[in-house]
Amino acid sequence: MRVLVVGAGFAGAIYSRVLAENGFHVSVIDRRSHIAGNCYDFLDLSGVRVHKYGPHLFHTNNQEVFDWLSRFTQWVEYEHRVQAKLPSGAFTPLPINRLTINSVFDLKLSDEAEVIEFLRKESEPYKTERPGNAADYLNGNIGKLLTDLFFRPYTKKMWNLNLEELSSSVVRRIPIRYDCEDRYFPSDKIQVLPENGYTALFENIFQHDNIEIKLGLPFEKDFENDFSYVFNSMAIDEYFGFSFGALPYRSIKFHLCDASDSGSSTASVVNYTDSGAYTRETHWYRLPGNVAVSRVKSVEEPCDYRDNNFERYYPVKTADDRYQALYKQYKQEADKRENINFIGRCGTYQYLDMDQVVNQSLLGVRRFISSVR
Ligand code: UDP
Repeated sequence: MRVLVVGAGFAGAIYSRVLAENGFHVSVIDRRSHIAGNCYDFLDLSGVRVHKYGPHLFHTNNQEVFDWLSRFTQWVEYEHRVQAKLPSGAFTPLPINRLTINSVFDLKLSDEAEVIEFLRKESEPYKTERPGNAADYLNGNIGKLLTDLFFRPYTKKMWNLNLEELSSSVVRRIPIRYDCEDRYFPSDKIQVLPENGYTALFENIFQHDNIEIKLGLPFEKDFENDFSYVFNSMAIDEYFGFSFGALPYRSIKFHLCDASDSGSSTASVVNYTDSGAYTRETHWYRLPGNVAVSRVKSVEEPCDYRDNNFERYYPVKTADDRYQALYKQYKQEADKRENINFIGRCGTYQYLDMDQVVNQSLLGVRRFISSVR
């Protein structure tokens, strides 16, 4: 059976590999000139590894996902830490923890019980039983001052939405700590980076006699005629000609620059709490495996995807789920088609971490294989 896979990111790579190992002949196309989707990385002129589309830090509790990927790469341990840069120029740990609170409020809270009691007094009761919007959730857990300092301006520039309009699920990604834990992903047992980068990992996944790849080739509907089945990770609304309306995405413009004057922070990523245009900076030379011969950083400027060459990064999840309702209309159209399945972040309009894409893809491709056998 000949299968077309549209998109050489994580979803496309996993579908391709599992199909190839099960005897299917797979053609992969990608409109970009490289594999690895938004995980694509490269060595800059000084030999520092840069993730072209922003920092991709692998973290998971899913051992099966990790074991599957481990067939294609060695790993280096990396526990991600972020600092917030306050309007005063001071740096504090992020996620908000005891040290953050002591620093912002000039306190000396010394244990978890004191922090919990302090935040209880700061916070406001939820307006609804289970808060659907980010403002209600944050005000109810950390209070207005911390919400307005760490989340309100950042969210506005990131999403062009007020916290009241954004789904609480987006900010729930960030834990709230009552202790001094300062890792960004404290609940994930596995925190690593591929030793030779993501692009090399993807090269190994695609390395199979049953897989051929064509890069720089945008999808066209005519291609479908040559294949028995298509797994498509392109934007589902674009595939259907935007017939129900466009699904919005946020995009990021990356500005690569010299980091010599970046202040006293030693974190790999610094988030800006101010209301300027930029959200965060990544100091690539601080990731493991890099020698600090050059101090290159990238600064992120969020924007609408239409203002960045239609580069779709983040599906938008508002508190009223209106775009998920729009997506469902496209999904219903897709379900009427027997020979196509939409996969990945843009195919299913979900804000997914890498391990979630890998997990969903492994489950999906195995389900497909058993259904055609
Ligand atoms: N966020 C924020 N301030 C921060 C970090 C995060 O307001 O300093 C909010 C913001 O709305 C962001 C969301 O929390 O989009 C999720 O943050 P995360 O760091 O997980 O975003 P990602 O790394 O996926 O861009």
